[in-house]
Amino acid sequence: MSYAKVLCVGLVGVRGHLVEVEADLSQGLPAVVLTGLPDTALSEARDRVRAALVNSGQVWPNRRITVNLLPAALPKYGSAFDLAIACALLASAGELPLAPMEGVVVLGELGLDGTVRRVRGVLPMVTAAVEAGITRVVVPVGNAREAAAVPGITVGPVDSLHRLVAFIKGEKPLPDLPPRQAAPVVDGPDMADVAGQELGRYAIEVAAAGGHHVAMVGPPGAGKTMLAERLPSILPELDDASALEVTALQSIAGVLPPGGTLIRRPPFQAPHHSASLAALVGGGAGLARPGAISLAHRGLLFLDEAPEFAQATLQALRQPLESGRVVLARARGTTEYPAQVQIVLAANPCPCANPAGDQHCQCSAIARRRYLGRLSGPLMDRIDIHIKLEPLGVAQLMTPETPAESSARVAVRVARARAAAAARWSDRGWRVNAEVPGPQLRRPPWRLPPQDTRALRNGLERGSLSARGFDRTLRLAWSIADLDGRDRPNGSDVDEAAQLRMGEAHDRHARS
Ligand SMILES: [Zn+2]
Repeated sequence: MSYAKVLCVGLVGVRGHLVEVEADLSQGLPAVVLTGLPDTALSEARDRVRAALVNSGQVWPNRRITVNLLPAALPKYGSAFDLAIACALLASAGELPLAPMEGVVVLGELGLDGTVRRVRGVLPMVTAAVEAGITRVVVPVGNAREAAAVPGITVGPVDSLHRLVAFIKGEKPLPDLPPRQAAPVVDGPDMADVAGQELGRYAIEVAAAGGHHVAMVGPPGAGKTMLAERLPSILPELDDASALEVTALQSIAGVLPPGGTLIRRPPFQAPHHSASLAALVGGGAGLARPGAISLAHRGLLFLDEAPEFAQATLQALRQPLESGRVVLARARGTTEYPAQVQIVLAANPCPCANPAGDQHCQCSAIARRRYLGRLSGPLMDRIDIHIKLEPLGVAQLMTPETPAESSARVAVRVARARAAAAARWSDRGWRVNAEVPGPQLRRPPWRLPPQDTRALRNGLERGSLSARGFDRTLRLAWSIADLDGRDRPNGSDVDEAAQLRMGEAHDRHARS
């Protein structure tokens, strides 16, 4: 035998593709040729595989070796092909029987000593294998639980090349699957911890109900971060498809906890304002790492102290926000990751970050305006809810009139509102009000009676309201009506929406 073929999976974005690893030994000067669009990390497989084979007590075939990865046109990234290459090589040299490897996908990186190392992206790789009709995979022990989370697959965990060779030859079984670890029960932050801040609480609830982006301006200590961190706690759990997507992205980023359970809670990402562009939108060598915006897919991206972010960074968010995905330029072609996020943006009212009127704040009105002005433009234009938060008074902190409502209770209202919106828009493919294109809401059957939108239309005529602002207000009004269990918004829902939209809502207006 001088030819052998072993199956592997290559990732392009979140999609896995079955890859055939062919090895051929021929007469000629000893050399290794690797073909089929490998990247740098994969090209280095040659050296890793050679060292791993020799250090596992195998003989390196001293012939001309051609390793080819098919389909050739598919770009291949990373080091997950190592183990499949080693198996194909050994089989082509007649050192391994091929039959036991028939129809088995082999994934794993090789250390120089022959140990098999964890790789990123095993969950989407195994998902793709199952979709292609594969029923058995061999994966690194460290990825075994993650692989086993995919229904319909039998997982063979390996810790070393030596162990895999012994298994294929029928000499020794593979290690056992590591025990399943239940996801740690973490009590996330709860809305019950937020004292006062009625307006902030209400804005967060409307945002959760309609999937609206929110901007909060307020001095330090007003509770902006507290509120943002609690938004995920009032969102519904992810459905199966979303949970698989979110878990796959964490797997590709290499941040998935080893327990092997799907992530069910909407993710929360809070990149620091000094974060690099790559950290925010993704990139890096080899298999591109998803950035914070993709790790927040189906969840929250919190931009604290938003004016401090570099302009280029904020600009880079624009395209993903519009399309719901990130397109990363790679050496060969592009890689795409999903990025459907809800943005929560927080800003201090002025660069010194002292409360307004505080003796330490020397900022002029111009300095304040310029500071928040850094946020103007396309990003702010996409934000439906703008609120100003005041610092909490001592009275509010010390003696709350009634204990604050818990996340669990708010979540019930949010779920009901979301269900109403989903039922209304499902045949058009929109899930939340924020996704509904503006013109739809201005046309029958969704157009509201003229007396309910009079103020808005006046604003439009006077030029104090843009057409986009008009649509955003309507979307918010629908979310407010959904929360209150009304079929469609009435005049006061529209007024309330206008206040939330313009940043003019105050605590006493928030809920009547
Ligand atoms: Zn100041």
